[in-house]
Amino acid sequence: MNMITNHLPTAELQALDSAHHMHPFTAGAELARKGARIITRAKGVTLTDSDGNQILDAMAGLWCVNIGYGWDSIAEVAARQMRELPYYNTFFQTSHVPVIALSQKLAELAPGDLNHVFYASGGSDANDTNVRLVRHYWAAKGKPTKKTIISRMNAYHGSTMAGASLGGMTGMHAQGGLPIPDIVHIGQPDWYSEGGEMSPEEFGLMRARELEAKIAELGEDNVAAFIAEPIQGAGGVIIPPESYWPEIQKICDAHEILLIADEVICGFGRTGKMFGSLTYDIRPHIMTVAKGLSSGYAPIGASIVCDEVANTVGEAGDFNHGYTYSGHPVSCAVALENLRILEEKKMVENVASVTGPYLKERWEQLADHPLVGEAKIKGFMASLAMTPNKAARAPFEAPKGTVGLIARGHCFGGNLIMRHVGDRMIIAPPLILSRSDVDVLIERAVKALDLTLAEIKDKGLY
Ligand code: PMP
Repeated sequence: MNMITNHLPTAELQALDSAHHMHPFTAGAELARKGARIITRAKGVTLTDSDGNQILDAMAGLWCVNIGYGWDSIAEVAARQMRELPYYNTFFQTSHVPVIALSQKLAELAPGDLNHVFYASGGSDANDTNVRLVRHYWAAKGKPTKKTIISRMNAYHGSTMAGASLGGMTGMHAQGGLPIPDIVHIGQPDWYSEGGEMSPEEFGLMRARELEAKIAELGEDNVAAFIAEPIQGAGGVIIPPESYWPEIQKICDAHEILLIADEVICGFGRTGKMFGSLTYDIRPHIMTVAKGLSSGYAPIGASIVCDEVANTVGEAGDFNHGYTYSGHPVSCAVALENLRILEEKKMVENVASVTGPYLKERWEQLADHPLVGEAKIKGFMASLAMTPNKAARAPFEAPKGTVGLIARGHCFGGNLIMRHVGDRMIIAPPLILSRSDVDVLIERAVKALDLTLAEIKDKGLY
């Protein structure tokens, strides 16, 4: 058999891909008919595909390549670590230098007394850790009935059994017998789609108070924790009304439950501060991190845990939980170098006060487009809600996602990666985006919106 390299024709790579590779969140048969887009290399904010197209990656991969593509020093650090100690585990009272250094660094960066790190290979399995950790914590406190975890509809917390159960995606719950027991969901703070005649602030309070009502319904003695993303990402970049998080924090403070902030997307600068919890003044007991922790250069995730929970669990004997790759030395070394670059190049500041304000200005102007009902942005995560009727914030008559998929096609066709969630278009670009990159992004986005509008008019969808 021929060597499979970048030099094979695209069609051949696509056929081989379809023959042997099962893609996540993909209809395999449909993809086999169409062929996958094959990405061959990337630099900065730009991807190159097997046909030589140069594509602006406004999603930073899967919201993860915060520092952008192509940093040689990361490759060098990874190679050095692989030569020195490619693997050793952190079970059985053993440790190594990269995991010690990264843990110290994360304790320094994380707010409050989040001083203790339990590692995973990504965000999903870090959230699995959280489920077991909070239940184990309450059992260690002599309160074993505190088991239920409250989450939110349309949240995303991963694809493992616990991660997908914590998530509130109906399409995921419908496959594979989810959610697992003792996980319940309250409403999401999506004012645009669900707020009706209420003001955003009233709606935010109303949705936050669903947490209080749910705790009362279940009984505080049965509730272990509330988990939420500071800004829902995969749900469609749902930026909550300003009233939402202060009220949630107040409710968590008033009740004996743990607060878990899932920072897998919001962490490491995406919202204009190091963590979404800092942007919204959230004081979590545990933060889930992944993605921007290594900017995707190596798989790694973690739970960053407060003193009280870590110390209690630490005194309670063995925590019977861990992954072969918990604290993988290469991933830890890569993450450390990634954080060094993030800080040295002042990328979080770029989001907060250099390119961020310009992106905000340009993005919000997209609300003038006839197809856009709302253009919202926080830091470097943003959404466009498309609608046939701006005043009513109405959905399209076509099944949800029909127009979104058309728009995504026109983005791809115009060498811009934007994702669609239903009929919302979303971006989460690398934090190194420059002003001129913003201009290219907006120009391509407008073109894609124009083409989408023309196509849906043609098809009678508008
Ligand atoms: N939590 C959130 C908020 C996420 O956005 C994601 C991934 N999109 C996950 C958890 C799961 O992370 P992973 O895919 O690394 O398992």
